[in-house]
Amino acid sequence: MVIKPKIRGFICTNAHPDGCAASVAQQIEYVSSQGDLGSGPKNVLVIGSSTGYGLASRIVSAFGYGAKTLGVCFEKAPTERKTATAGWYNTAAFHKEAKAKGLFAETINGDAFSNEIKAQALETIKREMGQVDLVIYSLASPRRTDPETGEVFKSTLKPVGQAYTTKTYDTDKDRIHEIALEPANEDEIAQTIKVMGGEDWELWLEALADADLLADGCKTTAYTYIGKELTWPIYGQATIGKAKEDLDRAAAAIVSKNKAKNVEAYVSSLKALVTQASSAIPVMPLYISLIYKVMKEEGTHEGCIEQIKGLFSERLFAESPELDEQGRLRMDGKETNEATQAKIKALWDQVTQENFHELSDYAGYHHEFLKLFGFDVEGVDYEAEQNPLAEWK
Ligand code: NAD
Repeated sequence: MVIKPKIRGFICTNAHPDGCAASVAQQIEYVSSQGDLGSGPKNVLVIGSSTGYGLASRIVSAFGYGAKTLGVCFEKAPTERKTATAGWYNTAAFHKEAKAKGLFAETINGDAFSNEIKAQALETIKREMGQVDLVIYSLASPRRTDPETGEVFKSTLKPVGQAYTTKTYDTDKDRIHEIALEPANEDEIAQTIKVMGGEDWELWLEALADADLLADGCKTTAYTYIGKELTWPIYGQATIGKAKEDLDRAAAAIVSKNKAKNVEAYVSSLKALVTQASSAIPVMPLYISLIYKVMKEEGTHEGCIEQIKGLFSERLFAESPELDEQGRLRMDGKETNEATQAKIKALWDQVTQENFHELSDYAGYHHEFLKLFGFDVEGVDYEAEQNPLAEWK
């Protein structure tokens, strides 16, 4: 079949196999061109490995450091008539490239919150890797089924404490408009923490420790977004921010429970980027279109792969990594510094329906959005027939 993008709201419901493969190849090429990254991980578990920051973490681990990688993701398989999700094709492409390089790679497709998928991962690590020396926690999920009670928790994207009215950009209708967001109630906050907080990260580390699968000095990190004033009402100080604060608690708990193994646990703050997760958050498409404009002009624009390569080589595996006052690793300084934020804020205040395309880099945002699904990738023939039935096994 010939595959063209089918966009519904903030999501694209299909994906392009060759385009996803080309996008993965670009990231591998970037990492391979960086020369020796110094010492790094050898056996890596990536939870949330198929798209965005998790995929970039897997690529840096394998192609930057020659590590064996076990990925865990939740992606839809293809059928004769329907394409798979992008993460499926990304994973198929990653496996092909890893195999060509003689790098061990296995991926478990299923619910990372479940005991069953954790057990499968432990089995694979025992059999193929011995122990892990790096665990990346990069899940972005709207819901979580509690593995013990079966109860389903849903995350909510709402302000905390008071209602908030702000500008937003509707990517579907090409329209700048105001949205009024009602504050979350206590239950919505608690449910969001249950889904996107640190509990499941802790459960993964506990399962690995109980099975003696953590190497001495094993590092683990979970990703967060902190941002600044413009995004605080809907992110940093909102329901999702409350969940992300819980990661700080979890990091301390992981360290204290695994002292005998000298485990290091960090929350890493990354910059805002177009991913499937961020495009679903109100305000983010507008904010990201503006930061793309400013940061490209400043020459500081980075994608997932540049951020993660920097995180690994300059922070996580650096001799004595610089930490912020909460003990977190920060890779977001080029976005959150005062001078850059002031430029973004000036554009934010000026932006209207009429001048949006001129003031922002929406073209860049949209290109990156399409690329998430394998569309609009340089060098790909979009008239060529595609076989949707790609596999990674
Ligand atoms: P993404 O949507 O690209 O990736 C999410 C990954 O989680 C995918 O691999 C998906 O398959 C997997 N996943 C989701 N639910 C799962 C489940 N139940 N079981 C197994 N796998 C599951 O998201 P992303 O933007 O790369 O986000 C990853 C992390 O980075 C999140 O914690 C996010 O908050 C954080 N972060 C994102 C940004 C940003 O701007 N995108 C910025 C800073 C931090």
